[in-house]
Amino acid sequence: MISIGKLFVISAPSGCGKTTLCKKLIEEYKDTLTYSISYTTRKPRKNEINGKDYYFIDLKTFENMVANNEFLEWAKIYNDYYGTSKLQIDMYLSNNTDVALDIDPQGAIQIKNKIKRAVLIMVLPPSISVLEERLRIRKTEDESNLRLRLGNAKKEILNYRNYDYIIVNDDFNVAFKELASIYVAEHCKIVDIEDINKIINLEE
Ligand code: 5GP
Repeated sequence: MISIGKLFVISAPSGCGKTTLCKKLIEEYKDTLTYSISYTTRKPRKNEINGKDYYFIDLKTFENMVANNEFLEWAKIYNDYYGTSKLQIDMYLSNNTDVALDIDPQGAIQIKNKIKRAVLIMVLPPSISVLEERLRIRKTEDESNLRLRLGNAKKEILNYRNYDYIIVNDDFNVAFKELASIYVAEHCKIVDIEDINKIINLEE
């Protein structure tokens, strides 16, 4: 398979296994797919590495980046800001590299409005109670943050109509198979002349 420079935007309420799904997809398709590292004003969690999980920056730096139009999209989520670097995405796309973006529905919709061929995938929990159980087991949030994230989950899910695909993550292996199938199938979907020229030189 060749990379054709498509954006794969993956959203899910926290606790749906989206990060693990994304990581496995990139591991499996590392020759064609890379990950967009977002900028955030959120403090790093234990085990998170600056420049790998996120670029952790302060609010002033974030505001300067917004003012300089350096984000393809950005959003305020909970009490922090998150944004996708325009430069990073332009660099990958000009190289025909596919990019996976782990971003929320506000950002996903901004991207779809700017880049029509972006593929929007939403990962859902089998139920809200399963989601709550998973968040409690993960123990990354305190009780008030957990309640905030659960409340937000329902609102996020209601954006599903703006998405191209839905994956219910009940069994991880099944969910991954669905995600990988979408990724592969999108390379067989010819939407414009740009794609066909990347696959076969019709001038020969
Ligand atoms: P977390 O703080 O748990 O890492 O992420 C919180 C939410 O922010 C998740 O839904 C994640 O997908 C989203 N997010 C991460 N990076 C970005 C970004 O660059 N833009 C937007 N809009 N959302 C992001």
